[in-house]
Amino acid sequence: MLKPQLAASRESHATGSPARLSVRALPLAAGVALYALACSGAMAAQAVRHAQFDSQKAAPAAQQGAPANAPVASAARIIQSGDVTRLSFTLSASVSVRAFVLASPARVIVDLPETVFAFDPPEAQKPAPPPARRHGRKGVAGKAAPSSASLIASYRFGRLAPGKSRVVIDLTQAARIVQAVTETDADGVRLVVDLVRTDAASFAAAVASARSLASPAPEAAKAGPAPHPAPARSAKPVIIIDPGHGGVDAGAQVAGKPAEKDIVFEFARALGRRLEGEGRFAVHMTRNEDVFVPLAERVRIARAADAQLFISIHADTLNGGNVSGATVYTVSDRASDAEAARLAEKENLSDSAAGFETGEESAEVSDILFDLTRRETRAYSHVFARTLVSVWKQAAGLNKNPQRSAGFKVLKAPDVPSVLLELGYLSSQKDAALLTAPEWREKTAAAVAKSINAFFDMRAGARGTAAGAGPESGLEGFAATLGKAPGEAARSGGN
Ligand SMILES: [Zn+2]
Repeated sequence: MLKPQLAASRESHATGSPARLSVRALPLAAGVALYALACSGAMAAQAVRHAQFDSQKAAPAAQQGAPANAPVASAARIIQSGDVTRLSFTLSASVSVRAFVLASPARVIVDLPETVFAFDPPEAQKPAPPPARRHGRKGVAGKAAPSSASLIASYRFGRLAPGKSRVVIDLTQAARIVQAVTETDADGVRLVVDLVRTDAASFAAAVASARSLASPAPEAAKAGPAPHPAPARSAKPVIIIDPGHGGVDAGAQVAGKPAEKDIVFEFARALGRRLEGEGRFAVHMTRNEDVFVPLAERVRIARAADAQLFISIHADTLNGGNVSGATVYTVSDRASDAEAARLAEKENLSDSAAGFETGEESAEVSDILFDLTRRETRAYSHVFARTLVSVWKQAAGLNKNPQRSAGFKVLKAPDVPSVLLELGYLSSQKDAALLTAPEWREKTAAAVAKSINAFFDMRAGARGTAAGAGPESGLEGFAATLGKAPGEAARSGGN
């Protein structure tokens, strides 16, 4: 649906005659080209994970959707004993474990069946001294002086996919996995991961042998049946709401505050409920629970659903400042400013935080049809970002520089207008209070819904005139005035 519209409106600011000539043929040809691109994605074979927005869904518990008989991890601690750094979890039952190493950055990944982590993620990740307290305490003993021998810089855990959980350990240096097993004795059951220092060459060899097991595609394929069926094709425009992070990737965290993944999920649900209630759009979420979804998969979901708008919801942190307010980002090959570049780099680490390799992005086809479609999409993205900023400021605070751009991976669908909304800064006392307040959430979700309606009103206006004379009215004209903004080099750079 989108592609023909894009093709038609492109005519208004196509500059070269080849582009003009190809306009009529563009919908079909672009469709083929884009289909080929979609099929080249590693995730293409995976069933669609998203579902029709479900307004009945309960708030995200720590482990919503976990099977009733899932093992429970009740505590974790780090023990340094000689050369061995041990990360140990107290478990309710023995589980099968698979562990491997990844580089850039150096990590140990421990995969296990879906496990309920019934304690908060560690705030203090320094190792405890050897005579550590017995297990059973919440979190990790954290007062100990950091041992120079410790191999563990930090770790996180959570749900990776239905039926599957993951622990990701960030290493301080190259390490070898001595063992990753569950042990049972009189004290109960523990998952223990023992690490020792190793040399760079041995580590690289271990990474190479693990690589085939750790790539996203097989991981996702092993995750079991997709929890939700593909949505039925809808006559209504499809809006994809993308709550950032999830599962093992908690996103931004400030001590004593809910994690970014939970805040943005709540916001996404509020927005979804509102849009569903209006009846104008078909609304889908990229995740309906606290589960990790790779960035490329979020893009793929939007494209597979023929989405006409993709809104990724995030919240930021910034140390040592009192920066506050919302910011709307679009994708660009060159960041609008250093701050936008920093943020895109951080948000693009999502896959890495969840223990995936973040290799080179697959080269995009350099093709005139592809370029035209992408330019058009970016123009629409800018239009929506501008609309959202102007509506948002009537309801809530904006950042000083509220509309920016950078190389966000999650915004790179070439044919789905996409924006990333940072609701505010968890590092700001003021924002953190607002972001967790239901009244603020409803008010700002209403603003986003209003801007979506305005965007589609403009598009409808543009479509009405597209068959006739010119680009002078509605969105088409508006987008044409932005024609220069999204024009970047063919190669998608990013950070
Ligand atoms: Zn984020």
